[in-house]
Amino acid sequence: MSNPFRDLPSMTKLLDALSAARERYPHAVVIEAARTALNSLRAKLSSGESAPVSVEALAAQVVAALDAQAVPALRPVINATGVVLHTNLGRAPLHEDAARAAYEAGRGYLNLELDLATGKRGSRQGNVRAGLTAITGAASATAVNNCAAATVIALRAVASGKEVIVSRGQLVEIGGSFRIPDVMAVSGATLREVGTTNITRLSDYEKAIGPNTAALMRVHASNYRVRGYTKSVELAVLVELGRKHNLVVIDDAGSGQGVDLTPFGLPGEPLVSASIATGAALVLFSGDKLLGGPQCGVLAGTADLIQKIEKDPLMRAFRLDKMTLAALEATLRLYRDPASALRTVPTLRMLTAPLAELRRRCESFAEWLRAIPGLTVGVREDESFVGGGSLPDVSVPTVVLALGADGLSETDFAARLRTGTPAVMGRVQDGRVLLDLRCVFERQEGELLEAVRVAVESRPG
Ligand SMILES: *Cc1c(COP(=O)(O)O)cnc(C)c1O
Repeated sequence: MSNPFRDLPSMTKLLDALSAARERYPHAVVIEAARTALNSLRAKLSSGESAPVSVEALAAQVVAALDAQAVPALRPVINATGVVLHTNLGRAPLHEDAARAAYEAGRGYLNLELDLATGKRGSRQGNVRAGLTAITGAASATAVNNCAAATVIALRAVASGKEVIVSRGQLVEIGGSFRIPDVMAVSGATLREVGTTNITRLSDYEKAIGPNTAALMRVHASNYRVRGYTKSVELAVLVELGRKHNLVVIDDAGSGQGVDLTPFGLPGEPLVSASIATGAALVLFSGDKLLGGPQCGVLAGTADLIQKIEKDPLMRAFRLDKMTLAALEATLRLYRDPASALRTVPTLRMLTAPLAELRRRCESFAEWLRAIPGLTVGVREDESFVGGGSLPDVSVPTVVLALGADGLSETDFAARLRTGTPAVMGRVQDGRVLLDLRCVFERQEGELLEAVRVAVESRPG
């Protein structure tokens, strides 16, 4: 039997075959990729697998690996899924001003902790406090890295070593194995569950209150709904109970709705300002859900609680970086006029886009697409989802493009779109690839058209 290892190309031979790649990539990177390819071929041969050992095949493999490494791991994706807050696609897209603020903060210096008027040290959190109190109506507010961190640091301030009472129906898992009870446990507070999955009454809370109780917490059920025979206790009733027993009431609102969306056919989610007005001592919400800002977690509430939270040594670990702070501040500015926020904040603009406008966009886009040979183009009514663990089962009517490519299955067509440049995420349904333009920026329409053309034209045969 011949020894397959004898035919293995030498490193020198392989590097000779890689002369073109060596002009494009640093020497050490090429060597490393060549070594990896040789090692993996050796491992294959040792395990009895047959593998091509020609120097050309191996060089081609190395070049493919080098090209793949050269593409940034994080790349822009055109979101044609119709899901506005798509967690896997980075949730809320920022307004141009917010994105630019983050960019400017990132590439230079700024008065992050400096009062320019006095030349003295300033407060990092102070840069967003006014914007956050304006939107929530709270006496004070601060922000940390995400709403999970906000929950932890709020409970440490309020209920460390004590009990916090939560309805069993609100102990949800938000996704990515993020479970509210686990996050609460990290804070050092003891969770006291009351009620059942579908029913929690005021008397359940009342019975659970003891000498060690520090807080009552309401958690937005987020991505989960209990339907049918259900009962929960309104925040106002919890606030009243809290007052009677001198307990802090915390509202984990999750999505952080800043403006009323009911005129647009969206459900009457409690506004963050309503939680404060109702009497919650603290309201917590994400910055990158409905608020439409960068990833962060907002805590708004009484001045003494916010001060206590900011003095927690954990604040140092949870505090926002300069780019996030800059983007958050710019996002909050858009809310100074709530009516214009509906038009300017991308998440709100997308959610409230009129159906007639979506139909018009879809129809003109369909005309352009019809010029691509081998592509079947339909326009149909469908639904877009809010997503993002905010208003999970809430959908709004939309109009979508329903595409089919000759000689390609719908899953292959979708895969080509996904792996193209730029990547395009649609939905596969009823043998078609559906593209919803709701979350496609107008500036991306040219690229989207080109991406579809390339996906169709590169089909086999
Ligand atoms: C989304 C959500 C969280 C987690 O927020 P992150 O910002 O992702 O950490 C916590 N609580 C509720 C109710 C949520 O909806």
